[in-house]
Amino acid sequence: MRLVLLGPPGAGKGTQALRIAAEYDIPHIATGDIFRDNVKGETELGLQARSYMDRGDLVPDEVVNDMVAERLDRPDCGDGFLLDGYPRTLTQAASLETVLDERDAALDAVLRFAVPESELLKRLKARAETDDRSDDSEPVIRNRLEVYHRQTAPLESFYAERGLLREVDAFGSVEEVTERALKALRSA
Ligand code: AMP
Repeated sequence: MRLVLLGPPGAGKGTQALRIAAEYDIPHIATGDIFRDNVKGETELGLQARSYMDRGDLVPDEVVNDMVAERLDRPDCGDGFLLDGYPRTLTQAASLETVLDERDAALDAVLRFAVPESELLKRLKARAETDDRSDDSEPVIRNRLEVYHRQTAPLESFYAERGLLREVDAFGSVEEVTERALKALRSA
């Protein structure tokens, strides 16, 4: 199963991604986590990404595309993968399509997690108090939501046109949302 999860920050993608990846026994690839690990480890990639992340802006497409292409070539992705937080721009979506085409592969589904905007802000502010993330201050949270609407939301029609988009109502308990996601995938 080759999956992409789409949804604004705060939609609960990360939590659901772990549960769905476990269900299908596929690697969970979260570009945000990879960047945070690199920032912590003070690697070259971390240095490149850090200033963008701190502002809530997107890391440049070339950097992310190369990183993901390399990750998808690892043997654990042979039977599938779940991408969480990638692609986030139309350029990234086109790059992913090319990378998969070149390997005679294709996505099976794109799940879009939908949550009311007011709930997103509430969740992100609550997360800022529990997680140690430098991009969870209020102005940065607002920028991340705006960046999602401007740069990532257009992917919804990109994938709808390809017949891959499945909407998941992400307002509910963790278990309820997982059940809805798995149901959407069973009919994919
Ligand atoms: P996330 O944990 O997915 O919200 O990602 C945290 C931050 O990492 C984002 O605000 C971006 O700065 C950066 N990032 C993660 N994934 C991507 C991506 N696909 N394209 C560009 N930047 C990304």
